Amino acid sequence: QCVAVCPTGALTERDSSAKVMDAIVDPKKTVIVQTAPAVRAALGEEFGMDAGTLVTGKMVSALRKLGFDHVFDTDFAADLTIMEEGTELLDRLGKHLAGDKDVKLPILTSCCPGWVNFFEHQFPDMIDIPSTAKSPQQMFGAIAKTYFADQLKQKREDVVVVSVMPCLAKKYECARDEFKVDGDPDVNLSISTRELAQMIRNANLNFEALEDDDFDQPLGESTGAAVIFGTTGGVIEAAVRTAYEVHTKKPLPKLDFEELRGFDGIRSATIDFDGLPINIGIAHGLGNARQLLEDIRAGKSQFHAIEIMACPGGCIGGGGQPYHHGDVEVLKKRQKAIYEEDKGKVIRKSHENPFIQKLYSEFLGEPCGHKSHELLHTHYYDKKKKVEI
Ligand code: SF4
Repeated sequence: QCVAVCPTGALTERDSSAKVMDAIVDPKKTVIVQTAPAVRAALGEEFGMDAGTLVTGKMVSALRKLGFDHVFDTDFAADLTIMEEGTELLDRLGKHLAGDKDVKLPILTSCCPGWVNFFEHQFPDMIDIPSTAKSPQQMFGAIAKTYFADQLKQKREDVVVVSVMPCLAKKYECARDEFKVDGDPDVNLSISTRELAQMIRNANLNFEALEDDDFDQPLGESTGAAVIFGTTGGVIEAAVRTAYEVHTKKPLPKLDFEELRGFDGIRSATIDFDGLPINIGIAHGLGNARQLLEDIRAGKSQFHAIEIMACPGGCIGGGGQPYHHGDVEVLKKRQKAIYEEDKGKVIRKSHENPFIQKLYSEFLGEPCGHKSHELLHTHYYDKKKKVEI
């Protein structure tokens, strides 16, 4: 039992790697793994590599050697999150600008469970503002146990979904009742970057010497927009890339929004949506988030959309990552690696991911449509009163 503590203050680490190995050796189970974007920018540090060394290919190779049946990417579901959250943003924005007083802005991102837990406890009066889109981890689980299980011709209870996350709060997220179907969780087990490193060591794999390998399809294909989810500002930048093109029906003149990047605890920028100025706020760290929320509560916020991440730096600085002992330079190197992976991707906008397009045409229908609402959206609780909203 490990004693590491989540920087969000939410959790003490519980090691789930033994349960993962039990599932892998169970012949009745098909075991699927998904890996979050920030993991590939930090896992190498556990094996003596420099901070910021990208190890995506070696990580995939290691997961395959550990015995997972399908090695997929949470980034696929990050692209899906952008389709849903971006559509929700444009819908709410359009209604708000048309004078609908029942539609509130800003919309707040909802992919960080440390942050979700914080607002459910501390700001339950504003619980109708966050996006209802599930996090990428949970969207992945919902699609893996429906669309992909159908392709495998397997029952959902015979499919085990494991996530590798930079985050300890993700263990709590996948245990939430609303992410289960008849008691079966969409994501069965979540392990941290450090737990994966320990599993690789336990298996005596020489990580540095592993050949690069590629994710499996169809849930392994992703864009640069999905990769940048791993750092503060990345979720909202990814959303802007898609929302701009959907709204204006024009291609973006440039994809890199430097004005949304950086490490200041609270940042803001106005993005011109072809004549419509969109005010964006970003906060990382819950103290900074609180300031933005107090402004909204006081009616002083001018933002249309806000990204909030509980951990300093976003997921690159998550509580399940290799220890960086508060060294911001380590986080900056991990962030640089994330932006490098984005730049190296052939496709850098979520709505252009061909497997996401196929998922909508074959299975989901349209973003924020009936099936998407059923599988990809959630609800929150007033945890002061313990009631569902
Ligand atoms: Fe987890 Fe990322 Fe949120 Fe930290 S910022 S609590 S790592 S989801």
